[in-house]
Amino acid sequence: MLLTIRTTHRPATDLGFLLHKNPARVQSFEQSFGQAHVFYPEASADACTAALLLDVDAVALVRGRRGPAGEGGTLAQYVNDRPYVASSFLSVAIASVFGSALAGRSKERPDLVTTPIPLRARIAVVPCRGGAEFLRRLFEPLGYAVTATSHPLDIANPTWGDSRYLTVELSGTKRLSELLTHLYVLVPVLDDEKHYWVGSDEVEKLLRHGEGWLGTHPERETIAMRYLCHQRSLVDEAISRLVVDEDPSIDEGAEMPGGAETQIEEPLKLNEQRLSTVVAALKAAGAKRVVDLGCGEGRLLRRLLDDRDFEEIIGMDVSHRALETASARLRLDRLAPMQRERIRLIHGSLLYRDSRLTGYDAATVVEVVEHLDPPRLAAFERVVFEFARPRVIILTTPNAEYNVRWPTLGAGTYRHKDHRFEWTRDQFQNWARALAVRFAYDVRFVPVGSDDPQVGPPTQMAVFTRTQTNV
Ligand code: SAH
Repeated sequence: MLLTIRTTHRPATDLGFLLHKNPARVQSFEQSFGQAHVFYPEASADACTAALLLDVDAVALVRGRRGPAGEGGTLAQYVNDRPYVASSFLSVAIASVFGSALAGRSKERPDLVTTPIPLRARIAVVPCRGGAEFLRRLFEPLGYAVTATSHPLDIANPTWGDSRYLTVELSGTKRLSELLTHLYVLVPVLDDEKHYWVGSDEVEKLLRHGEGWLGTHPERETIAMRYLCHQRSLVDEAISRLVVDEDPSIDEGAEMPGGAETQIEEPLKLNEQRLSTVVAALKAAGAKRVVDLGCGEGRLLRRLLDDRDFEEIIGMDVSHRALETASARLRLDRLAPMQRERIRLIHGSLLYRDSRLTGYDAATVVEVVEHLDPPRLAAFERVVFEFARPRVIILTTPNAEYNVRWPTLGAGTYRHKDHRFEWTRDQFQNWARALAVRFAYDVRFVPVGSDDPQVGPPTQMAVFTRTQTNV
């Protein structure tokens, strides 16, 4: 089984830094199913090709009983296509041999990781159930030019027609991590077979690797179906959670407290005022069980924990790092048992439907929406207002009009580098009113910080209250 990846991005040998594999050497890696070798058939400044060769040991697989469950002692155990074709073994090898590149990490070339570069992947043989047409339906919507060469079933008997084996070339201007992710997920989908038992972990894996592209892929049903080996309950779970796609870059980009935003806002102690206003609104609404969405490092959670009115508190964030900091700041490991039971931190994304978020009195979304890419707002809206659907939703966001009052903030810039937008009062209120109508909530607006007669308050807050309790 041979996969080659070629780039003409200059200097092309940077491919070695992206893959964390030196172009000057041949390297071999032990795998559960045999050996993986990495080498470079060409490596110049103009063009560089990395090759991943899998030497699948079919005999060892049978001996070690690592083959698919349910096989008897048949000849097919020993004589099959697995050593020669791209299959789920390739995905396993990509994850283990090119793990950093798959995750989009490179110490030496961090900028190149996020830069689309011209790439061409060639897989010597791919078993493709559904033929070249299915192959195109998988890769063309992702922006690849696809070339497929079919191979006859038997060259001595051309009338038998073509086999299900294709030689495949995919070209596109992509980030290397994207290309590897697409291969990782879609090669087993083409093959429609997996060498290991598929359980619910695979749903998480599919959603994680599908971030940013699977939610909008026209073949997402078939991809999930085949990736999850036709297990209907797993497929249903995966599909129901794909409201829209997720932005993986958020996890990396969103360090908040101590960052530029806090410094700009510092003189006003705006953050303290914001938290007090949110807590007051929660208390006025009689909320006892609260979920803080995009809780960050837990500043609001601290306030809630210190107030006995709040009986159950959940903090949710997409960033593992933020949750770890929150856990440390709240000293969760040192809380008395009764206190400890009141609070829970969960990892999740506001762009995926999540049953753990249903059934709370109130949700708070403090300084989070402006971190979402505008095309993803629609998913956020449904996740919070349609699926989680708490009685009260309290949402804050910067008021862009106020920025002129901050001497340190240049014209046309945002308060934080990770902000995707900042809204004027009109923009925010129009958005919030439309949401309220669409999802049957009432909405009122509360200024946070001093309400400037010309430009309004530095932070704007909307309090949504559900109008129909039975929907
Ligand atoms: N509410 C906190 C943090 C605000 S910063 C506070 O006021 O201090 C924005 C937070 O939103 C970050 O912690 C970021 O990780 C989180 N976030 C961004 N996109 C998210 C998503 N899709 N799902 C969940 N959290 C997200």
